[in-house]
Amino acid sequence: SGKWARVIEILKVLEEDCATPIGKLRQVADAMTVEMHAGLASEGGSKLKMLISYVDNLPSGEEHGFFYALDLGGTNFRVMRVLLGGKEGRVVKQESEEVSIPPHLMISGSDELFNFIAEALAKFVATEGEDFHLPEGRQRELGFTFSFPVKQTSLSSGTLIKWTKGFSIEDTVGQDVVGELVKAMERVGLDMNVTALVNDTVGTLAGGRYYNPDVVAAVILGTGTNAAYVERAHAIPKWHGLLPKSGEMVINMEWGNFRSSHLPLTEYDHLLDFDSLNPGEQILEKIISGMYLGEILRRVLLKMADEAAFFGDSVPPKLRIPFIIRTPNMSAMHSDTSPDLKVVGSKLKDILEVPTTSLKMRKVVIRLCDIIASRGARLSAAGIYGILKKIGRDTPKDGETQKSVIAMDGGLFEHYTQFSECMESSLKELLGDEASESVEVIHSNDGSGVGAALLAASHSQYL
Ligand code: ADP
Ligand code: MG
Repeated sequence: SGKWARVIEILKVLEEDCATPIGKLRQVADAMTVEMHAGLASEGGSKLKMLISYVDNLPSGEEHGFFYALDLGGTNFRVMRVLLGGKEGRVVKQESEEVSIPPHLMISGSDELFNFIAEALAKFVATEGEDFHLPEGRQRELGFTFSFPVKQTSLSSGTLIKWTKGFSIEDTVGQDVVGELVKAMERVGLDMNVTALVNDTVGTLAGGRYYNPDVVAAVILGTGTNAAYVERAHAIPKWHGLLPKSGEMVINMEWGNFRSSHLPLTEYDHLLDFDSLNPGEQILEKIISGMYLGEILRRVLLKMADEAAFFGDSVPPKLRIPFIIRTPNMSAMHSDTSPDLKVVGSKLKDILEVPTTSLKMRKVVIRLCDIIASRGARLSAAGIYGILKKIGRDTPKDGETQKSVIAMDGGLFEHYTQFSECMESSLKELLGDEASESVEVIHSNDGSGVGAALLAASHSQYL
């Protein structure tokens, strides 16, 4: 019927608008390297903040002792304690607990959020067993992973530039987040030194390097997306401090805020951005990351329901609720291999309360998932390729066997198989066969927590 033709038309337009042919990916990668240069040249020189992390030495393996870590990311936060045993022992023991953040705390006051965090940390500290023994008179030390853009003022302090990923707490912006945490810890009577403040990408880089000396960059694909990499200190014109002994500095790119005329953006993306808590910002993040992929799918389905009666004469009311389709649901549908696509059917029923769907409709949903996820995955690959170009690791050098390893983490990369496979194959496509041989993508599970503890260890007040 005419209605179905309209469904197909909407699908086709989406497919065209999301297209990422290899030439376009190369343009995006080149734009990324251009912006990297601009962000390193001067403060505010680019949409890419290219933040200096104050991490100029990555873990050596020698780190030892007992340290805490705290990871505040998107929806969950984790508390962790690790016992480090140096080169031989490595991570001797590790305990952690995950706590989900009540949604109202993401949009209330700074004290409320940090009190909640400090209380959870205090509770966790109270469960410390015999194995974790602190020498007499020593203060506990913490590596704080905080996955939002922070302008660091030292390794252990930094002011919040802005919230992302659905957080919006005005009174934290411009404040030292370590100060906020320390105040909250004092309020709950917890005595602990915040030794290192690190972005999750920087933590993942540190954690990755601890096990693999060839790790040069880290990428997070989770609720949000971001990347960090090791830059030559010489190549950072905006850095006016002393040249670090290592000659290197880890840069937190904040690549989620990247935008470029080369990015394939659709009408759905523009409206999603317009309706978001941070319009005009985090444009790359809004087309790549886990917080948004399911929401893009919802918006396309809503248009199909509205304009082409995709779900019948009326629009399912649930489909009008923002963020009702979460990315894990999208990936569950996307990976449905049953002949009648029964997972797709049951998800649509559970989430949207659509009692029945035809196979034809379910196939359209799979196509939509594929279009939306592939765009995100291919653009992630372009970003990584951009970093490799920036550090001169994108082409095989004659006679060199230097490996370049990218440490990846985040729930999207970890659990959305179609996404991560597409990301990896697109990166190979960009690099070509020969250079692909020297580039490796590894999953650095929970690297950011261990990484923060490692950085706390190597910067301990007792060294
Ligand atoms: P955060 O980014 O909040 O620190 P994670 O790295 O654990 O936390 O990522 C969680 C995000 O990963 C979720 O918000 C979701 O978007 C995505 N995710 C989790 N599980 C899946 C899944 N099965 N399929 C697709 N995406 C998933
Ligand atoms: Mg995280």
